[in-house]
Amino acid sequence: MNAEIITIGDELVTGFRVDTNCAFICRQLTSAGYNIKFTTSVGDSIESMEEAFRLAMRRASLVVTTGGLGPTDDDITKKAIVKTFKRNLIFHEDILSELKKRYAIRGIDMPAINQNQALLPQGARFFPNKNGSAVGICIAEQGKIFVALPGVPQEMEQIVRDELIPYLLSLKTTQNMSSMTLKTTGIVESKLAELLAPGLKLEQGVKLAYLPGYSGVNLRVLARADSAEDAQSKSAELIAYIEKICDKFIFGREDDTLEGVVGQLLLDNDKTLSVAESCTAGQLGMTITSVSGASKYFVGGEIAYANETKIDRLGVDPEIIEQHGAVSEQCALAMAKGARKLYGTSYALSVTGIAGPDGGTEDKPVGTTWIALASAHNSFAHNFNFGTERNSNRIRASYAALELLRREILDIK
Ligand code: ATP
Ligand code: MG
Repeated sequence: MNAEIITIGDELVTGFRVDTNCAFICRQLTSAGYNIKFTTSVGDSIESMEEAFRLAMRRASLVVTTGGLGPTDDDITKKAIVKTFKRNLIFHEDILSELKKRYAIRGIDMPAINQNQALLPQGARFFPNKNGSAVGICIAEQGKIFVALPGVPQEMEQIVRDELIPYLLSLKTTQNMSSMTLKTTGIVESKLAELLAPGLKLEQGVKLAYLPGYSGVNLRVLARADSAEDAQSKSAELIAYIEKICDKFIFGREDDTLEGVVGQLLLDNDKTLSVAESCTAGQLGMTITSVSGASKYFVGGEIAYANETKIDRLGVDPEIIEQHGAVSEQCALAMAKGARKLYGTSYALSVTGIAGPDGGTEDKPVGTTWIALASAHNSFAHNFNFGTERNSNRIRASYAALELLRREILDIK
């Protein structure tokens, strides 16, 4: 089953907005068994859209577009749909009454221009939008499906997850495949490949993809077969093999995040956490608190950027900084111990490093990072070097710190 994505908006083709919608939909549709051969972005022009829609409908059985479904004059996707499919617009009372309800809850009179959002091409079904006013539009024609979704990522994502994917699965055309993502951290892509190589058998129709990101490398297993059961059993074999070989590096599956997994471990073990951050300057705390409910285990932290702050707030001995420098095993350990004492937590993590691009020396090159963990029984620091790019250094350091904690709690050596 081939699918094609078309994202719409001048902001995409002028580079003012990064197209995240396309990536999201590609991931979701791939997991649902679709093959995506082309993705396109078009500007806000009815002619360009029509051209893109027609081409995509010729070569794919599913076409999904995002953007331009709003009520304002610059939102013209519906006009392009009408031209492409040659269907009249029909008024839907139920859509309008939902819209009016939404406005009433917010205590605002519905602006008249919203009325046109209740107009849909004849014969189209619609997908309700829980987070906004534009519904998703779905047209089935000659065995093919065309879907138009709003551009706001949060609205689009909700409709894809709750409406589009269940609808496509109900058509039972995609169920001869199986997809599973295993999430690893603390090991680079090439090392993973080296570990897996000796016993790796990829049966016909089975694919293994290495997908590196800041928090680690995702391993995606995709299997296609004549039936859903065959696809399942083909991928199960490979998943079992990967889990056996890479066990200690795998922290989760599918939508799991490292910060979510570590948070759950803290909760399950009734433990608390604080941080002391130098080079990450809040990035670690931000990552930890991106999990809803993090306040149950995350107490707080210090952004101890200057040496004086490390000394005054965290109680780092000035001698340590003088003798070993702020980016050192000793300083990282003292920072973690200081934070743990200050916040009275079970664990504390600290990060101190040279984020770059300047500031490196011969014995401490740019990227040198010390990360320490302090607990009641065990305190230690590890040395990392994540490269020379400042932003990526800070993000990688934050995930490396979380991985130290995961391994400590699970007693992984
Ligand atoms: P609205 O009802 O809010 O007008 P819409 O369907 O008309 O929604 P757009 O006006 O195209 O959508 O986009 C709404 C917002 O979503 C804009 O801020 C836009 O930059 C953003 N957006 C649109 N398409 C994408 C995309 N492909 N990736 C990321 N952001 C996007
Ligand atoms: Mg709009």
